Amino acid sequence: MASVSEEQVLNALKSVSHPDTDQDIVSMGMVSGLVVKDGNVGFSLEIDPRQAQAFEPLRQEAEEAVDGIPGVLSVTAVLTAHKQASQQQAGPQQGGPQQGGPQQARTKQEVPGIKHIVAVASGKGGVGKSTVATNLALALKASGRTVGILDADIYGPSQPRMMGITGRPESPDGERLEAMENFGVKVMSMGFLVPEDTPMIWRGPMVMSALQQLMRDVNWGELDVMIVDMPPGTGDAQLSMAQDVPLAGAVIVSTPQDIALLDARKGLNMFRKVEVPVLGIVENMSYFACPHCGERTDIFGHGGAREEADRLGVDFLGEIPLHLSIRETSDGGNPIVASDPDNAHSQAFRAIGDRIWDKLSGAGAGRAMPNIVMQ
Ligand code: ADP
Repeated sequence: MASVSEEQVLNALKSVSHPDTDQDIVSMGMVSGLVVKDGNVGFSLEIDPRQAQAFEPLRQEAEEAVDGIPGVLSVTAVLTAHKQASQQQAGPQQGGPQQGGPQQARTKQEVPGIKHIVAVASGKGGVGKSTVATNLALALKASGRTVGILDADIYGPSQPRMMGITGRPESPDGERLEAMENFGVKVMSMGFLVPEDTPMIWRGPMVMSALQQLMRDVNWGELDVMIVDMPPGTGDAQLSMAQDVPLAGAVIVSTPQDIALLDARKGLNMFRKVEVPVLGIVENMSYFACPHCGERTDIFGHGGAREEADRLGVDFLGEIPLHLSIRETSDGGNPIVASDPDNAHSQAFRAIGDRIWDKLSGAGAGRAMPNIVMQ
């Protein structure tokens, strides 16, 4: 079979014109990050991200134009917002999770000004990952750290609601966005940029590009810790994130029944594959604390996460009960650690935050964490 060359691809793309200017998209410099490998073609079209939907037909047209070249087996065109981000993407397109290649740790570019980036992850949705991420960030802040939250859950961003922030980020220089802020914690989320009712169809590489921009094209200032509220699950987006972001470690949030169902273990394994240290497991909705009488009920058979953590040789960081006040405060934009710092649940979050900070700042900080034994 004739191999496909970059020139052939660019020639085909020259037949595609920008709808407004009628100029071809190659001459306009819109095409970037072109990768041609064994008949599989990937490239980005650089656009203004606010116009992503308007450019969807153009993206499809570009894919079809390349698909017509003899020898082309697959075409993936993604809309991207930024030159640098699309170039960073060349890696994931070439050897990323989409192609099922081995998940080696890739070279990760540090984010200037940010000392430690910690992912808060879960094997599946609904276990309270965002609630834990928010309260841990506030706990670290309460212990005197400078903290930011990157809401990487771009399919269902929770941080604007949980942190009680509305409005759009400003960009005084037209290049970088200013992080939003509440309770002294910086926050950036796709939820600030896209209206809540706008359906977003994200394709793998575009997700990574968006996340890289939320991380790198935002003025975070100096941070001791950035908490990344990961998308739930262990799919391509999570894997790319774990591979491409210089994570100091990951915290796995699990409910007692979820650990029994192995979902949390999938999360552990994903980070293990890409050599990101797992700082430990937090058991959320650990037991039911009655808001009236304070009585404790172990609805889900409490303690599973601690035992599982022991078994896997991962630290158990602590447990948070299922309590109405945690739900009401998180969902109401006034998380419990900020609104009621002396509360027992807030203290539990503080203790977990302190454990995490000790690990990050201790002798074995960073990628060479001790005492992580993986099976
Ligand atoms: P995830 O990020 O895992 O999808 P969320 O953090 O959005 O989960 O939590 C799902 C729902 O459960 C939210 O309404 C949240 O307020 C509630 N929730 C989370 N943790 C607790 C808890 N410990 N006690 C009570 N409600 C909780």
